[in-house]
Amino acid sequence: MAVSDAGAVREDEFPGLMMDDLPLTTTWILRRAATVFADRPVVTRTPGGGRHRYTYRAMAGRARRLGVGLASLGIGPGDRVATLAMNHYQHLEAYFGVPALGAVLHTVNPRLHPQDLAHIVTQAADRVMIVDQALWPVWSAIVGQVPVAHTVVVADGTGPLPPGTLAYEDLVVEGPDQVPDDAVANDRQAAMMCYTSGTTGRPKGVVYSHRSLVLHALATGGVDSVGLSARDMVLPVVPMFHVNAWGLPYGAALHGSGLVLPGHDLSPEGLLTLLDETGATVTAGVPTIWMAILAALDAHPSRWNLSQLRTMLVGGAAVPAAVLQGFRDRHGLGVLHAWGMTETTPLGSVAHVPAGVDEGPGPAGDHYRLSQGRPAALVEVRARGEAGLVPWDGKTPGELEVRGPWVARHYYGGDDDGKFTPDGWFKTGDVVTIDPQGYLVITDRTKDLVKSGGEWISSVALENALMSHPGVAEAAVIAVPHPRWQERPVAVLVARGAERPSDQELAAFLAPQFADWWLPDAYRWVEAIPRTATGKFLKAALREQFRDALGGGAQRTREVP
Ligand code: ADP
Repeated sequence: MAVSDAGAVREDEFPGLMMDDLPLTTTWILRRAATVFADRPVVTRTPGGGRHRYTYRAMAGRARRLGVGLASLGIGPGDRVATLAMNHYQHLEAYFGVPALGAVLHTVNPRLHPQDLAHIVTQAADRVMIVDQALWPVWSAIVGQVPVAHTVVVADGTGPLPPGTLAYEDLVVEGPDQVPDDAVANDRQAAMMCYTSGTTGRPKGVVYSHRSLVLHALATGGVDSVGLSARDMVLPVVPMFHVNAWGLPYGAALHGSGLVLPGHDLSPEGLLTLLDETGATVTAGVPTIWMAILAALDAHPSRWNLSQLRTMLVGGAAVPAAVLQGFRDRHGLGVLHAWGMTETTPLGSVAHVPAGVDEGPGPAGDHYRLSQGRPAALVEVRARGEAGLVPWDGKTPGELEVRGPWVARHYYGGDDDGKFTPDGWFKTGDVVTIDPQGYLVITDRTKDLVKSGGEWISSVALENALMSHPGVAEAAVIAVPHPRWQERPVAVLVARGAERPSDQELAAFLAPQFADWWLPDAYRWVEAIPRTATGKFLKAALREQFRDALGGGAQRTREVP
């Protein structure tokens, strides 16, 4: 009998064991979608603004034929096939067709800087690039610098394809050939890879195995997780180039949820229309997306019918209380907060209310809903402070470390950067407290912390408070060098309307909530806060821009305790 490559126990030594040598591959998910959920829909908003609809049965057929087409280009096990693509059915076909062949799908983030793009495509050794026609300018800027053999274009009808490229549809041809269902025999083989978005440094490659993706997809069905089911319609706003759209495409296919893919239109109006028209029940994205959607809903509260929407999954950055409460109190919509990273596939923790706490609206439940939640099943957490692991007392901060079957063991290319402990945990760079029931609260990233006179100030807590002021639409609090205190917090703000609240008004607003040495030394107004490639506030750029904001620093009169 076969022995798994972990090689633990053989059946001839211990008869009667489970079939746990059956490889957990993404093909397993595809087979289930194509049979049990064959008629469930996949709806895509097409570039012209129309709708493309088909079923999982049709998707599976085309995904398998894509595998055959790629094999005809000489692609085989271990080869990297990259995508520069938004959320649409052809991208979904690549999610299944590429790994089914034993090849590795590398989803590339088109919003990265061209230099980073060229670096990661070269490092990953991508042999094929599948690119949306609309993203051609991104690809054409680097194509001459990278060793990719074939460019495949997903045409959008806006004109002829660039010379020297292949049409995606020509790869998905009908024919007798089939990729065998068991092309992947070892589920610890690589299936996908994705680079971090580089909020705090150069993007680093994370490689997902078949097994990690299948276990992760299974976990998205847990009711204390996202609870994906065969009655759901899932609209991932989070891009399919960013941590596999949080694993939702695989989760939806495994659990029989329909999929709604918004293509290139990520405008609040476009998304709200799609949510309404498809009766989507679950949607997901980073907070900046929801801030814009909330503003559109506030402006037109009855234009869209979102009565089917049960869960708006928000992660990637902390959900501001004003966003969670605004959706719930003004529009009856439930926000579900979750934490994760590219390195954790990304499901790390989900913020449901525990037993014994009123689930209704109100501060008791919001305390938990606004936390980063409890670790997902099969994810373990601990936090380390300067004096070692911190107690789970909900008070003592430390850097969060995690481990689990869908957590990275190393970075691709060996650039581990001190992020993995000798005993096998991944150091997240997030500073948390953990309460006795395992609820995490992220107070900062290690690189975003404001360290004032030896004490840590949580930029996240200040941002949250500032964003609940009616005059403030967006807030980012950054550490600015200070001659006496080393660093002091400065708040960078975007106004909600024409009137900007004064510094004194903001300080008075914050004063009841924080020790006075936490209050920002300065408030600066900007038109827009720069965003990372995945829509998070780019604090590195702000720190650079406001490096001299305290101009050698007016001495503070208050003493740090
Ligand atoms: P990058 O590290 O380049 O931003 P990721 O998308 O992997 O790329 O981001 C992971 C990071 O995002 C986490 O380490 C954490 O700092 C932040 N993050 C993710 N989810 C949350 C959340 N719910 N609350 C606060 N921060 C979050």
